Amino acid sequence: MAFIPTVDAEKCEGCEECVDVCPTEVFELQDGKAVPVNADECLGCDSCIEVCEPGAITVEET
Ligand code: SF4
Ligand code: SF4
Repeated sequence: MAFIPTVDAEKCEGCEECVDVCPTEVFELQDGKAVPVNADECLGCDSCIEVCEPGAITVEET
């Protein structure tokens, strides 16, 4: 089972909450937007979804 986190850049406000909360450091801020640079490390814990106020993050289970 794998998890694929994605960020809708149109919705992302660059608050960095997902960068701070993710236990496996999936996200990095690039030009004010969160980018899932280590998507392969995602554990599917959904913590990033919970802290993202604008609802920019989706974690797909494959
Ligand atoms: S928590 Fe949401 S709004 Fe904040 S940086 Fe991450 S994706 Fe962007
Ligand atoms: S679901 Fe958990 S492990 Fe995956 S990107 Fe979000 S906070 Fe990180």
